Amino acid sequence: MANDTRNGSSAGGGRKQSTCSFCSRPQRDVGPMIEGPNGVFICANCVDLCRNIIRQEKRKVKDNRPLFSSVPAPREIKEFLDQYVIGQDPAKRVLSVAVHNHYKRLLHADSAEEDDVELEKSNILLIGPTGSGKTLMARSLARVLNVPFAIADATTLTEAGYVGEDVENILLRLLQSADYDLEAAQRGIIYLDEVDKIGKTQNNVSITRDVSGEGVQQALLKMLEGTISNIPPQGGRKHPEQQYIQMDTTHILFILGGTFVGLDDIIKHRLGRKAIGFMGESDEDVTSQRGHVLRHVQPEDLVEFGLIPELIGRLPVTATLAPLDEATMVSILTEPKNAIVKQYQRFFELESARLEFEPAALRAIARKAMTRDVGARALRGVVEQLMLELLYELPEAKDENATYVITEQMVESTEPLTLFAARQPRKESA
Ligand code: ADP
Repeated sequence: MANDTRNGSSAGGGRKQSTCSFCSRPQRDVGPMIEGPNGVFICANCVDLCRNIIRQEKRKVKDNRPLFSSVPAPREIKEFLDQYVIGQDPAKRVLSVAVHNHYKRLLHADSAEEDDVELEKSNILLIGPTGSGKTLMARSLARVLNVPFAIADATTLTEAGYVGEDVENILLRLLQSADYDLEAAQRGIIYLDEVDKIGKTQNNVSITRDVSGEGVQQALLKMLEGTISNIPPQGGRKHPEQQYIQMDTTHILFILGGTFVGLDDIIKHRLGRKAIGFMGESDEDVTSQRGHVLRHVQPEDLVEFGLIPELIGRLPVTATLAPLDEATMVSILTEPKNAIVKQYQRFFELESARLEFEPAALRAIARKAMTRDVGARALRGVVEQLMLELLYELPEAKDENATYVITEQMVESTEPLTLFAARQPRKESA
């Protein structure tokens, strides 16, 4: 293009009234234009529009650009997790490093030359009992990285052709949580729960699912590895005449979780009982022993459990979560930002009253919750049951600045706890 044609006022030879070849508006409306060969013109608005389109297209082609410029260090990630997840330090460390690396990899992919070392992604396997914080950990990670996050349950998935959900629906959920921003979703985190239930040697199969569970594992494999998946935008089963959204899973971080009941026995068998150390037979010993044993997990144990080797191969990072003991349960009740105890105390404050829990009462709540065998998940239920009558009566009590104290006996009693019983000065020593 000749230099003089860049000058808007002389574009198009000056006198002749020209229109933009892209939006068809006259020069009178759009101002200076640029002339191309053969009498083609483009106005400033269309130049802007083109620039945006090109930018978007480039992003699509090179869709490995992270949404943030710097990745938090593993230590920063762990410190953030500490605010939400109590205990589970080894798992937090493993996850912090893995997630940091994952996002470093995205930055690297962006700047890498053609022949540079390719950093492969590391999906994560979380093993730990129910209610020990697996989902919480994955959710908190998504929060620290500010990326879309979706949770799915592996037991609802089936191989194409059987009753149930297609694996692509997991991706749809991620896309929905990203408000249909495909770019953002392609860098999100998916937490897939209950993967231990799709093990091929599991007995609890139903006739509506593929009998081995292996088909689902195979379907997951491709997604974990990185593939272009066709997602039905409305969800549900796929059918031929449907329009699909194409989603690249290469940079999605998959965190798979499960309780893997019985895995400890497999590990113990492999190691021999002596190698781990015999710790006693009380319930607590058995529980902590289980956590201890799980830390020795090797890929072959997972194969024996029923995961296919190819799937395990796509899960290079394994983190184990320990069963929660009484002290940790008490911390969970009181320490996290939105701890249950803090929430109830706030309820009472809103009614101009004070609520206190004696330390022994907190321990009793923890013990009661532990008998339900669903980890910290039982805590809310126990506290809710305990507080029900109090909350029922409280708004009508009109007892300004009253203090209510929960004691160990109150927690252990089978009678409903009344406001009258908890009101000071009936404080009893722990
Ligand atoms: P799961 O391991 O079965 O995925 P979750 O992460 O869903 O368990 O935990 C259930 C609930 O229990 C969480 O919402 C959280 O309130 C509480 N919880 C479990 N483990 C922890 C933990 N380590 N720290 C703080 N809260 C926890």
